[in-house]
Amino acid sequence: MTLVVLVNFQVRGFVKENWTPHNHVEFKRMNKNCFLNFDRLGFLMANGARTFLTVSKSTSRLLHLPPASSRFFPPFNSSFNGATFCSSTGTPSMSINLQSHAFARNPIRSKTPKPENPLSPDSSFESLKSKLLAKTPLLSSPDFKILPFRKGWPLVSCNGGKRNGGLASGWGLGWISLADCESLLALSGSKVTEDLLVYLGSSVEDDAVYWATDFSGADNLDAELGQRKLNFIELRMLMVATNWSDTWAMGQLAIAGHGRALLDWHRTSRFCGHCGERTVPMEAGKRRECSNQSCKLRIFPRVDPVVIMLVIDQENDRALLSRQSRYVPRKWSCLAGFMEPGESLEEAVIRETLEETGIEVGKVVYHSSQPWPVGRSTMPCQLMVGFFAYAKSLDIKVDKAELEDAQWHTREDVKKALTLSDYKKTQRSAAAKVEQLCNGVESRHSQSADINAEDGGLASMFFPGPYAIAHQLISSWAYQDNEK
Ligand SMILES: [Zn+2]
Repeated sequence: MTLVVLVNFQVRGFVKENWTPHNHVEFKRMNKNCFLNFDRLGFLMANGARTFLTVSKSTSRLLHLPPASSRFFPPFNSSFNGATFCSSTGTPSMSINLQSHAFARNPIRSKTPKPENPLSPDSSFESLKSKLLAKTPLLSSPDFKILPFRKGWPLVSCNGGKRNGGLASGWGLGWISLADCESLLALSGSKVTEDLLVYLGSSVEDDAVYWATDFSGADNLDAELGQRKLNFIELRMLMVATNWSDTWAMGQLAIAGHGRALLDWHRTSRFCGHCGERTVPMEAGKRRECSNQSCKLRIFPRVDPVVIMLVIDQENDRALLSRQSRYVPRKWSCLAGFMEPGESLEEAVIRETLEETGIEVGKVVYHSSQPWPVGRSTMPCQLMVGFFAYAKSLDIKVDKAELEDAQWHTREDVKKALTLSDYKKTQRSAAAKVEQLCNGVESRHSQSADINAEDGGLASMFFPGPYAIAHQLISSWAYQDNEK
């Protein structure tokens, strides 16, 4: 069934090639009002169009959206996730799955199977133990796939043809078999034990269980890995190198982020904070427990919540952006800060804004959240919780210990900066670098931290790339209707 409706939406401003590469030409052709079938609209929105669209009230009713969302689609509005497009008779005809933030939507961990399922953490851990002990040929089902990390960097392959059912492009995770894992570790004199492997998830379709393991102690494998065109690559570089409109590639990044966060947490949680004894992994690495029988403290993987907010001056149609001293020149971003114990998210937004800029915040509106396993501190995984915060006062008093500068910027200036920035160029050059590292063209130790320096293009200021929630907050605000 093809349903064609008048979709009263508008393309706002210049559509950035980097965010909607497949739809670039199509967007340029669009007028304010056009006929579009729902399949096409769903495809466009699933490929990043939502940032630039407003949808009429009548269409909103067809989309079953709540009234608050009817004027504007924030890119990751949770109330819109999984919204069902309906035909005029009210029969659901298709669902759309919106893109998500980088590191979210991990394809192998949407649901943990029940313990009796062979793909569950408990059952697969038992079969892992028997496989490691087996002297006889191993059972082939389920398949075990292992992702090695070195100091938080996942093993990556740029070999073509590994992608499910399609052409390979860009990087993919360097999964190895259990037998490969054993032979590689044997090269550095180590032995695989079940406690070294951490359960990442499973796939019913592939009859596979996925594990992460830490190869940080095995540093003489470069030649062997190099022959297979495999290399350990910095996660931040992979984040920048990932094509954001490619769901498969974003899934690879999410798996890598999850594995890194879990292994980092295991590495820093080896001793009990209560009695000081050693802790041991339990439930296939999903938690740890103190080995002191009179203590047995249970500890779980750590997540550190951070509030990140775009502070908005509604009266003058401006947004507050700030610079930290560690930023490259011309880079500006949202305010952010760690939560304190006993504090609500909204209170943290209000407190951090006041402390860092002297501005009082009134209304606080939730936008979306993003796992962030690439923070600069020793935290295994931050959870960035994004808000729009509406200012009650406008005079800025910057706390120089926290920020280098903070200023109000008009919507026009912000739009101009978004238009002139060249994130796609940065993405392409990072992808080329990853490929060179996999193929041994570049030195295996030359990975540079300065991978965002080109983001600015010709702009007088620029913001973090589309892989960061800060970018999504800023572009959502810039392209939404003026609230005045
Ligand atoms: Zn203890």
